[in-house]
Amino acid sequence: MIRLPEDNFKHQGMRKKLIDQLREKGIKNEGVLNAMMKIPRHFFLDLAFLNQAYSDQAFQIGAGQTISQPFTVAYQTSLLELKKGEKVLEIGTGSGYQTCVLLECGAKVFSIERQKELYDRTKELLPMMNYAPKLFYGDGYKGLATYAPFDKVLVTCGAPFIPEELIKQLKVGGILVIPVGSGGVQVMTRIVKTGDDSYEKEELSNFRFVPMLENKDWGK
Ligand code: SAH
Repeated sequence: MIRLPEDNFKHQGMRKKLIDQLREKGIKNEGVLNAMMKIPRHFFLDLAFLNQAYSDQAFQIGAGQTISQPFTVAYQTSLLELKKGEKVLEIGTGSGYQTCVLLECGAKVFSIERQKELYDRTKELLPMMNYAPKLFYGDGYKGLATYAPFDKVLVTCGAPFIPEELIKQLKVGGILVIPVGSGGVQVMTRIVKTGDDSYEKEELSNFRFVPMLENKDWGK
């Protein structure tokens, strides 16, 4: 049973500082920054780590996974160029923090997580915070054919290659944001689908993500 901590002036002050730092680091999308200002990031970490919740760092969330660094969340979300009401597929629900940022931006979110422990926790936490994404326990490489096509697809783990299926499930004109690379470093990659069988690819900065695991690696 999860109990929500309070979100008081102290927390809001810490959050405001973090948002100012993101702006200084080059995040320009005020819609994304406003969304992040609304979400108590300390709800996603153990209360003992309050300072970490509002510093620009990734952090352990259990099951060997991390909550992405706030800068990374802001950067990836900005790349999606979200409009209200768009259908977004997220791969790697993790703590659910990025899911909430997408929801606050007005998206309808479908999110997949392959770690049962994280899926269970996030499925309980988000409704308590009055967020209502559709969460799935499964394999992100397969996407969600039943709910396709999506306006946007966001991958929050490091993919060794771009899964064909995720491009297939994107609408023409849709955007896929995915960190690609199998070593310790991934290149943030943005795909714009230009036709049923064509897309444009743009490679941006380097990031470090936990790996997007394939079936054969499961259980590791
Ligand atoms: N967006 C999350 C980031 C979590 S880290 C957050 O803000 O907290 C990336 C997540 O991707 C991890 O939880 C990991 O378990 C998950 N993941 C890795 N491989 C996956 C796969 N094949 N399908 C779905 N999720 C996967």
